[in-house]
Amino acid sequence: MKIHRIETGRVRIKKNQISKQKGFAPQMLKVLFGKEWAEWVPIYAWVIDHPEGIIVVDTGETSKTGQQGYLPNWHPYYAFAVAFDVKPENEIGPQLVQLGIDPSKDVKKVIMTHMHTDHAGGLHHFRNAEILIEENEFKEASGFTGMLAGYLPHRWPKWLKPTLITLPNDPYFSFSKSMAVTADRKVMIVSTPGHVTNHLSVIVEVDDLHYFIAGDTSYTEQNLLKLIPDGIGTDQSLKTLKNILSFSESNPTIYLPSHDPQNPDRMANRKTVSVIKKDPKDKKLQEVLA
Ligand SMILES: [Zn+2]
Repeated sequence: MKIHRIETGRVRIKKNQISKQKGFAPQMLKVLFGKEWAEWVPIYAWVIDHPEGIIVVDTGETSKTGQQGYLPNWHPYYAFAVAFDVKPENEIGPQLVQLGIDPSKDVKKVIMTHMHTDHAGGLHHFRNAEILIEENEFKEASGFTGMLAGYLPHRWPKWLKPTLITLPNDPYFSFSKSMAVTADRKVMIVSTPGHVTNHLSVIVEVDDLHYFIAGDTSYTEQNLLKLIPDGIGTDQSLKTLKNILSFSESNPTIYLPSHDPQNPDRMANRKTVSVIKKDPKDKKLQEVLA
């Protein structure tokens, strides 16, 4: 079994979206009107080459984001708080072809961590795959309310008929809900709420290492280690970050969030999460934990 990392272009968001800020103003206002942009970061999607068939996790973004009128500029988030840089050759489809994989034929399953556009923008490449989406996430992302929440349901392929999943209360290490994707249980979906209420992550076990395909549980490993939730998620984020750290304490884990520029280094050098011992004198950490 092998994991491929595919960079489907880059995105730029506000610093206030990457790390939650203190204070009373609503988080979304801080994201929209925050003055400081973060650096451009990669948008990753993942390919698991498993004996049962090829599994893709998230589909990255589409180059159509560069076309006038593709993104809803009436929406404040798209007007003020995000920018994309995706070329046609950056899309997941052509990159899979480069790897010798025909996206329309050879991919068995696509698992979506959540339906934000930088994860769902490449869905159109996978017409014949089974597409697994968490049932309530699909509901929340659909229709006009989905659009108000920042999803782009009107851009999903017309043929999209996902397999809607609800994770059973089946514990897998620190995660209370999980589902095996493959018979050997080496590809597991776990529940990681926070960034969105029904966010999923995928854990792949290869050669005694656990590759934690984290979606947007945090934007960087650093924020996981410091237990800093992102600026737009729910208050479930902190518990999820703690669950991931606890998982990493019992399993050598390579943490792979969708936008962390350090992912290539971590994969090449098999750098696992090393959990910082909780220092009672670390005031900032204690504030976060409080
Ligand atoms: Zn997201």
